Amino acid sequence: MARRYVIVGNSAGGVGAAEGIRQVDREGQITIVSDEPYPAYSRPMISKYLAGEADLAHMLYRPADFYAKQGIELLTGTAASALDLQAHTLTLADGRRLAWDQLLLATGGTPFVPRTEGLDREGVFTFTTLDDAKRLAAKLSAARRAVVIGGGLIGISVAEALAKKNLAVSVVELKDRILNMVLDEPASVIAEEAVRRAGVEVLCNTTVASVVGRPQNGGAVVSVFLDNGREVPCDLLVVAIGVVPRTDLAKAAGLKVNRGIVVDEHMATDAPGVYACGDCVEAYDFAADVVRPTPVWPNAYLGGRTAGRNMAGDAAVYPGGTACSSLNYFGLSLVSAGVLLPPANDGFQVLSRVEPERGLYRKLVLRGEQLAGLIYVGDINRAGIAFGLMREGAAVAGFAEELLADGFGLISLPRELRQSRLEGKFNGVHP
Ligand SMILES: Cc1cc2nc3c(=O)[nH]c(=O)nc-3n(C[C@H](O)[C@H](O)[C@H](O)COP(=O)(O)OP(=O)(O)OC[C@H]3O[C@@H](n4cnc5c(N)ncnc54)[C@H](O)[C@@H]3O)c2cc1C
Repeated sequence: MARRYVIVGNSAGGVGAAEGIRQVDREGQITIVSDEPYPAYSRPMISKYLAGEADLAHMLYRPADFYAKQGIELLTGTAASALDLQAHTLTLADGRRLAWDQLLLATGGTPFVPRTEGLDREGVFTFTTLDDAKRLAAKLSAARRAVVIGGGLIGISVAEALAKKNLAVSVVELKDRILNMVLDEPASVIAEEAVRRAGVEVLCNTTVASVVGRPQNGGAVVSVFLDNGREVPCDLLVVAIGVVPRTDLAKAAGLKVNRGIVVDEHMATDAPGVYACGDCVEAYDFAADVVRPTPVWPNAYLGGRTAGRNMAGDAAVYPGGTACSSLNYFGLSLVSAGVLLPPANDGFQVLSRVEPERGLYRKLVLRGEQLAGLIYVGDINRAGIAFGLMREGAAVAGFAEELLADGFGLISLPRELRQSRLEGKFNGVHP
């Protein structure tokens, strides 16, 4: 009898798993369950949608006929509400019950919303789904000012889109610099200058203490009070503080969950036949050499692909992923990956090159002979080569300075490293 595969989540991880299954098993029944109403789309592009620069057709992660061609049943707009590990069933919120032989949880993340007074008011949004972008887009014509809470990747992406739509935007960041999870201090300074040049106000070292509403307008947001007492007027408030692994289904089923769902190197959970991948798991980070959530698109896809092959009977191993970001906001290109702020006296060496007049900054973090982290700001052309070397654990200490140079290219690599890298591209599995 054909195997029954059920996948919860229809994004990078879910699609990766379906493709992994089909690599091994052409006959099995694959069902993907999604509580979003769309075929898989590029989540990083929702800011382009908000800015009016892309529609769903441009954001599709796979061609529209992908599901039909791969023999995948896609159930959209319905949440999986209960997982029974003994009976091997998955119950959906609409009452349907699916039987499975192998199951994957690719449930992603859920936006973190603090308990700040007034965050339940009309005019307050999160920003992680296409529907979030649609809801915000519908409010743009009547809005003039926006506040974004959070100066991380998601906050900066939504700030750029709102600024492009001619709103006056203020970004409120609790820490002393924006993009502090994906950049070091010099790179954050360059990024902040680019954001300010675009007319966006950046307010660091503070947070929103309360949200004020207008009684005559159903309580919709009109301003926020910062914890330093300043009032910032706004018609829209976007909460972009971060995303936490969405583990409710896994926890309720009794699967082992720490910061994320716990998986082994095959992306298998502690229950037979049940796998997990993507933003909802903690998995091996090869650069930091620890197990932790690394919520980026390429890792979700690769984890899904590994899980899918194993669900179909293969013995694939997840090679590990690391935190990596490739950003292009406010006219500034940035790439960062791996360990960015190495602990002092722990065997790390840092090499850097700074040319403020060119908006250029490059930094490499070495652990012994190998690359453990990198930041490229401005000209990011060589970041792909450096990332490939890092992923493969190549010995780079002998020519690391050259990786920072303008003229560096594949030709600069030692011969034995050059060949294996000729097809190498940063991230390979981009949305
Ligand atoms: C605005 C934004 C910008 C980003 N930019 C970048 C970037 O530039 N580069 C990068 O690498 N990464 C970026 N990311 C992160 C990247 O999008 C994620 O790492 C990636 O989407 C994770 O894929 P996933 O499959 O694990 O989960 P998700 O993409 O979160 O998908 C999970 C899906 O499962 C559904 N789901 C969850 N629970 C259930 C349930 N019980 N029943 C049914 N369906 C369920 C969810 O609704 C969702 O559709 C960005 C994220 C955001 C929000």
